[in-house]
Amino acid sequence: MITKLIRKNILKLKPYTSARDLYSNGILLDANENSFGSSFQELEELHLNRYPDPHQVDLRNAVSRLLTIDAEKLFFGVGSDEIIDLLIRIFCEPREDQVMLLEPTYGMYKVACDINNVETVSPLLNDSFQIDFAEVEKYYSDKVKIIFVCSPNNPTGNLLNKNDIIQLCRNYNSIVVVDEAYIDFAPEETSLINEVANYPNLVVMRTFSKAWGLAGVRLGYCAADEEIISYLFKVKAPYNINALTRYAVLKSITNEEKKKSAVSSIVSERLRVEIELKNILAITNVYPSDANYLLIRLPNAKEIQKELAVKGIVIRDRSSQPTLSNCLRITIGTKEENDALLEKLKDILPLRH
Ligand code: PMP
Repeated sequence: MITKLIRKNILKLKPYTSARDLYSNGILLDANENSFGSSFQELEELHLNRYPDPHQVDLRNAVSRLLTIDAEKLFFGVGSDEIIDLLIRIFCEPREDQVMLLEPTYGMYKVACDINNVETVSPLLNDSFQIDFAEVEKYYSDKVKIIFVCSPNNPTGNLLNKNDIIQLCRNYNSIVVVDEAYIDFAPEETSLINEVANYPNLVVMRTFSKAWGLAGVRLGYCAADEEIISYLFKVKAPYNINALTRYAVLKSITNEEKKKSAVSSIVSERLRVEIELKNILAITNVYPSDANYLLIRLPNAKEIQKELAVKGIVIRDRSSQPTLSNCLRITIGTKEENDALLEKLKDILPLRH
């Protein structure tokens, strides 16, 4: 089934073979590197004058142990944004195939499709921001090669029902990409990562940018059937993951406690901020969230966002997204940051009595 979905030119592709594919030890005179060393004086043990491992071996092994998932089912990208782009390039023939987006959702899926000249079809989520299968049916055809599902969904914050996503994998002859960028802020059993062993058309994406606090290092990954993983390796840039990123992530993984404590603080702050926001009269909706942000709806959202920015508090206006008129997205920060947000908001808007 997967082979049928892959673009013909990618099926035939002979990938670039890099110097480090065959040998990585010995007197290395094969890659036109600088044997005199790097002009960056710190972290000499990283040998930054050398190209990094194209096979991502250490990262695959470390995340494999962390998640108890086969290393062969893992692929790493420069943020999950790179993986989104690579998947579109593997499966979607420009100007012929389509990608299905369940709106409102993360904006980068559409941008990546536009860059690749791939048309999108956009059924709306229902009033609870869950999959509306009647809508999906309206837009589905065999041109749809990928369905992107974001769970917890950005910017609405809610998890999508796991059974609905499995239904998509079972009933549609397309790749189903589940973006779990925010899954660490949701209960553990809600992830679909273990289902990749059961559904060859399922890809689950994750990132180190959120719960792990490593947005600056740019590392995302996905878990999928080995066949999909093999094509991701074929189309990626030869050395997509750099040595500094690898170093930072391998070190962070040994400090999972820090991640867990950040997640637990964010989740308890999310609850506190949610309650406080509900006390503000003008806010008509504070949507339930399983992520590290809250979506709110209130009149004159754009103006409120601007007023907050003048007061030094920066939040995101999501009003232009389908069905999200007058909606703002607020990232949960530290207690002090959240207090500052609430204080400035209350300066602008009256409280409930
Ligand atoms: N998916 C979602 C749902 C996101 O919100 C983001 C970042 N805003 C990404 C993916 C991209 O993450 P990364 O930093 O790994 O590229």
